[in-house]
This record gives sequence, structure tokens and C-alpha cells, in this order.
Amino acid sequence: MAQKRILITGAAGFLGSHLCDRFIKEGIAVVAMDNLITGDLKNIEHLFKLPQFEFYHHDVSKFIHVAGNIDYILHFASPASPIDYLKIPIQTLKVSSLGTHNVLGFARVKKARVLVASTSEVYGDPEVHPQTEEYWGNVNPVGPRGCYDEAKRFMEALTMAYHETHGLETRIIRIFNTYGPKMRLNDGRVLPAFIGQALRGEDLTMFGDGSQTRSFCFVDDLVEGIYRLLMSDYHMPVNIGNPDEISIKDFADEILKLTGSNQKLISLALPKDDPKQRKPDITKAQQILGWNPKVNRAEGLKITYDYFKSLSKEELNKTEHRNLETLNK
Ligand code: UDP
Repeated sequence: MAQKRILITGAAGFLGSHLCDRFIKEGIAVVAMDNLITGDLKNIEHLFKLPQFEFYHHDVSKFIHVAGNIDYILHFASPASPIDYLKIPIQTLKVSSLGTHNVLGFARVKKARVLVASTSEVYGDPEVHPQTEEYWGNVNPVGPRGCYDEAKRFMEALTMAYHETHGLETRIIRIFNTYGPKMRLNDGRVLPAFIGQALRGEDLTMFGDGSQTRSFCFVDDLVEGIYRLLMSDYHMPVNIGNPDEISIKDFADEILKLTGSNQKLISLALPKDDPKQRKPDITKAQQILGWNPKVNRAEGLKITYDYFKSLSKEELNKTEHRNLETLNK
């Protein structure tokens, strides 16, 4: 039997790079693809020496071609932090619309099973709490998050259409806030922002009064959920996230304690359309995939803090991502 191969888009990003590691460990050959706009080769450079690993520097918004068999596809290419998609809204829209179209067309040609990375952002600023997969969401299409939220909603619709029309084997995961090693320190998300500030001796920037909530999942748990969903036969959306909900204010206090820093919390304006609360209902993942998060926040934060501490001073002080300014919109 031919060696099984998986195409991972967004492979040099935070989640993509962890997925490369996982599928290599499973004995599946990995074809990694990334345009390196927000991803970083550093995250996967340890894999380049392996014969079962290949890398394509390619933008999936353009036609995709890979020779040979492809059995599985994980579509994880997309900016995923509010700061990134505010800077590059058009690329954000393109990768989940045109990019998803290319991925699904490619999957048809290869007769591959495809899992697309959707997000809790499809629920917008949710009026149902916790969020179940049946909730349709409360999204502002023309607000600052519209380019991400609507692109992901379109991605889900297109994926369902390929499933219904062409019988393509599809999986849709809705990912809630996830953290862990290899997150970009300067991506603007709350965890790298707070830890970076603590390490640089700056005050922590809390947006609003910090009463908004999030529920943070450690990356290893998410990767296990992705693996189980891909290998399942369930084609409707599944939430994967850790339901342990915390306010941003309490989260900031946890980070201050963890890092032992004496910095203050400063309150900045709450960004427009910032969801007030977010927590996954994971009944489906539990029942269909037998999945539960295993790593609690104290353990996960410690591992993540150790990773950020190991970065060089130069990386710690970098605030702009090197590739964003070279973009051709
Ligand atoms: N946040 C904050 N300070 C920061 C960055 C983010 O207080 O420096 C807040 C943000 O307003 C949001 C929450 O932390 O309520 C999570 O933000 P993030 O950008 O990580 O992801 P989101 O869940 O909003 O997509």
C-alpha cells in the first residue's frame, strides 16, 4: 500500500506546525504548504531533514498542485488573530474563500478527505452561552472582525456544498481560543501579549474592564481533537475547546502571578465587536469523538511561559511581523 500523505495548509503557523509534528509521529507523510505571511519556517525547520516531509512555499489562494497521492488535507491557512486580520483583511478573506475553493477542488481530484479549520468566531458576539454547534451566531459582517468571521462562515458553507454536491468527505472543526508553544509573540492575542509584556517589564494592556470571558485550550488537546475528528465519519461542525471559562481580568492576574512580575494592569479601550463571552459546549466532541481536554490552565500556561522565556531578546522585542509589509494586496 502506498505511503499515506497529508497536505497541511498554513503548516508553518502555530497550529499548522504542531499538526505537522503530530502526523509525522503517526507515520503519515506530510506535505506542508505556507506562504509565510504570518507563519514562520522556524516552527518546522526541524522536520526538513525527514524524507517523509516536504515543504511548498505557496499561497493557497492560487491554484494548488501537488504530484502523487494525497489522502488527507487539513486546511489551516489563515491569519487568526484580530491584529493580523485587521492588517491584512483582503488576504484573510481570500484564503478562506478562494483558498478553500482551491483546497476542495484539489481534494476532489485526489479523492482526499478534507478537514477545514473553522472558528468560534462564526458565533460572533454570542447571545447563547455556552455555544453549541446549533447556534447560528451574531456576526457583524462590516465590523473589524467581519473579514475573518464571514470568510470562515463562507468556508463552512462551501465545504458543506462540496460534501452534498460531490460526496466529498469533509470535516469542519470550530476552534476556540488555543494557546501553547510556537504562538507568535507579537500576534496581538491576549496570551502572547500579556506574557511578552511581563517578560519585557511593561504594564499589561487589558482591553475594557476585563469582564469579557474566554476559555483557553492547550494546543496538545486541540491537536488530539483534530486527529480524532479527521479519523471520524462525522461531517457536521464540531466545537473543540476547553470549557474552563475565565474573565480577562482574572487571566491577567494569573499571568502576573505566573511570571512573578510587579507590573500593573492598564485598561485600554475595548475594541469594537469584541465578544463579551465565549465558552464551548463540547458535548458533541465528547460523545462523537470521546474527546476531553486533559491539560489544565496552570499546566498549560507553565509550558507556554517556559517556551516564551527561551526566546532571544531580539525576538522578545520584535513588534512587527517581517512579512506583512511586503504584501501585495
Ligand atoms: N485582550 C486584552 N489585551 C490584549 C489583547 C487582548 O485585554 O493585549 C482581550 C481582547 O479584548 C479579548 C480577549 O483578550 O477580549 C481575547 O483576545 P484575543 O485577541 O486573544 O482573541 P479573541 O478571542 O478576541 O479573538
